[in-house]
Amino acid sequence: MRSLPIFALLAIAVAGQVRADLSFNITSTGNAEADSGFAQAAAFWSGIFDDDVTVNVTAGFSNLGGSILGQAGSQRNLIDYDDFRNAMAADASSADDATMVANLPSGSSFDVFINRTSEATGTNGANPYLDNDGGANNTSVRITRANAKALGLIDGNLGGEDTAITFNSAFTFDFDPSDGIGSGKIDFVGVAIHELGHAMGFISGVDILDFNSPPSSGPFNDNLFTYVSSMDFTRHSADSLAAGADLDFTADNRAKFFSIDGGVTAGAPGVDHFSRGVSNGDGRQASHWRDGLGLGIMDPTAAPAGNVNVVTELDIQAFDIIGWSFAAVPEPSSIGILGLFGLGLLVRRRRS
Ligand SMILES: [Zn+2]
Repeated sequence: MRSLPIFALLAIAVAGQVRADLSFNITSTGNAEADSGFAQAAAFWSGIFDDDVTVNVTAGFSNLGGSILGQAGSQRNLIDYDDFRNAMAADASSADDATMVANLPSGSSFDVFINRTSEATGTNGANPYLDNDGGANNTSVRITRANAKALGLIDGNLGGEDTAITFNSAFTFDFDPSDGIGSGKIDFVGVAIHELGHAMGFISGVDILDFNSPPSSGPFNDNLFTYVSSMDFTRHSADSLAAGADLDFTADNRAKFFSIDGGVTAGAPGVDHFSRGVSNGDGRQASHWRDGLGLGIMDPTAAPAGNVNVVTELDIQAFDIIGWSFAAVPEPSSIGILGLFGLGLLVRRRRS
């Protein structure tokens, strides 16, 4: 009996905290198990980040054919770079946020290292160049609607769809990773965490350039590629740094690395972090870590059947620095959940 008052006191203390919560408003997929798995994935992100944001998700579970496990199509907002940078500064809460903001380009424009445009030379516009003419693509960004909510650029609880996520019912999924992933089954919750990650802003505008570039289409004027994302400010290469660019926006097969300080320090030295594009790069969408290196949940390919997918500190850092803010006591919750998602990541199934 003596312990009861203490327990009650703790309960009051927790309830008394002003805690905004990241939450997800997810429509039914029409499949009860998929709905349950999707809710677990949403709870994962809600356990790590505490923004007063509701992400509205239109969910689906249907036969997509092919090798795609799941796909996310997110609404994106076009935002003046000035407003984006100011919002990033106002939203900064972690040490990494401070580093990120301190290294964002000052002024109202940024310079990009780009190719595959009508201004580029070489076969199919292969030669990158420094685009610093202050055009539309140097003065605006395009980030997911959920990311804009996290940054306070729009109301965090604004209604309407933020993203549409569909899972491929043609695969045999294990919808509950708590007891491991069954033999021959794909980790549904891991795939759902990945797709929600895209909705939350882990994207690259390089995919738009890559898709709309020679020889399949284009070339188009560089000012049309107003698709630099929040994550793209972490995308660099040795060549983009040498050219004096603020980010690498090229569609080609050169290495691109992740850095939160404008390219001075790579997130993990020597690691080649980003996928390079389906058409002109390495065959994977640029909106991912590099394939098969085990960098994290945003790897373009999921763990093989029978294995869980891993969320890493690198994943969490990326979401932190694009505008998501940690819960008041991040360490116990994130470590516990990361532990739950455990072990190694090997490749085989593609997801987008
Ligand atoms: Zn993906």
